[in-house]
Formats: sequence, C-alpha cells, structure tokens
Amino acid sequence: MKLTFLGTGTSCGVPTIGCQCYTCTSTDPHDKRLRCSALIETAQTRLLIDCGPDFRQQIMPQPFRKIDGILITHAHYDHMGGMDDIRPYCQFGEINVYADPIARQNMLEMLPYCFAENRYPGVPAIQLHEIHKHEPFRIGDLDIMPLEVMHHDLPILGYRITQLDAQLSPLASLVYITDMKTIAEEEVAYVENCDTLIVNALRQQPHHSHQTLDEAVLFAQRINARQTWLIHSSHHIGRHAEVNASLPEDIQMAYDGQVITI
Ligand SMILES: [Zn+2]
Ligand SMILES: [Zn+2]
Ligand SMILES: [Zn+2]
Repeated sequence: MKLTFLGTGTSCGVPTIGCQCYTCTSTDPHDKRLRCSALIETAQTRLLIDCGPDFRQQIMPQPFRKIDGILITHAHYDHMGGMDDIRPYCQFGEINVYADPIARQNMLEMLPYCFAENRYPGVPAIQLHEIHKHEPFRIGDLDIMPLEVMHHDLPILGYRITQLDAQLSPLASLVYITDMKTIAEEEVAYVENCDTLIVNALRQQPHHSHQTLDEAVLFAQRINARQTWLIHSSHHIGRHAEVNASLPEDIQMAYDGQVITI
C-alpha cells in the first residue's frame, strides 16, 4: 500500500500568516506545510484520511479517480473544513465518510444542506457512517480498526489500517494518529508493532492538547513501530532538515507530497 502525505502542518499551516520566524522564512519546500491529510492507495482501494481546508489544493496534483472512503479523525476545522470540495468526486457515486458520533454530529451541523430532505442539485452526496473504537470494518482490501486517543479532553479516532491479500491474510499495517496528547493503556495493543506509525509532533514546548516532539519519539519507541513519520507540526518546531538531522533514522518528520510504501 502507498501513502501520500497531502499535508503535515498544524491547524494554521506553515508558514503561518504574518510570521517572519526562522521556519516561516525558509525557502526549503519541506518547510511548507498544509493542514494534515493523507491519501492511502492499493491497486483496488483509495482512502482519504481527513479533509481539511487545503483539500482542493492537495488533491489537484493527484489523478482524478474515485475515492472509496474518507476516514475522519475528529471534528476540528483543520481536519474537516474541506468537505464541500469533494463535490467533483461525487460523479463516481456517493462518497462514504466514516466518523465517530461526535464528528458525525458536527458534520451534520457543518453541512446541513448535504443532509436536507430536498437537496440543492450539485451539493456533495455523502453517505455518512457512524463508527466506533475497536469496531473494525473493511473498505476494499483494507481492514480499518478505529482506536481512541485523547486530544486534551476530547476523545478522537486514530486508525490502524491493514492491507489484506486475496486470502484475507494481513500484508502490512500502518497506524495513523493525529492531534494526540495522551493514549490510554488499553489502546496500546491496537497500535503496537505496526510497520509504519504516523503520529503528531507539534513542537518542543509543552502544549495542552498536542504531543511534543519528545513525547512523539517516546511514544514511537514504546509501541515498537518499525518506521515513524511525524506530522501536524507547527513553525515552532524549526526547519525540517535540521529537526530530522537531530532525530533517529527510524523516526523522521514527514513532508507535504512525500510518498511512502508500506
Ligand atoms: Zn489538528
Ligand atoms: Zn513562523
Ligand atoms: Zn484537533
């Protein structure tokens, strides 16, 4: 399976509007971070994780073909603000969107016109599925296991995604977690020993609702991930090349447009 990082930045993106700091003035393209989202593809299946306000710009360079499902992590604007822009993809059929009860309710309130009785022609056709932690489901050849992490006091979803072969045996798995501050002990079994971990690392200084860089590194080591890619970083973290040089080879910051094979 292939994963493309469509965005690796925190809620305001990098550079931050109006900022002249060392990171925001970098000319290195690796220091330009759109809001967090990822595209996961196999020969059969194409999934989007989150659909933030940069979705239109992020998806434009990608081949225009069906998206089989959108997995929502939580109901914050930087993860859902681009939902109206999925309209062109509805020509392939209704879009299946998967969200926990809180995010589902928020989506109904954010896009009431998509769920109205008499819908205005041309609005996104969304099939909204309520999902729950530890209740796995399948999309094409991908097995999706939702798990719970805490974003300060808000429970949100992370996902363990496993590609299955024709006999439904697991081939490889990735764990995608964003906006985590803490994780309960009973969730650890769902994330341990994955091939690839994608997890948030905001900056070096503590934050009430996001992991720091050190916390992300400790988490990756604790769950024994083979390779870890860090996302949802702010300009405070510094420049991509310098941060990566300070990190072990198996724990590195991702960048927008990066493609990895799992
Ligand atoms: Zn966020
Ligand atoms: Zn800055
Ligand atoms: Zn958030």
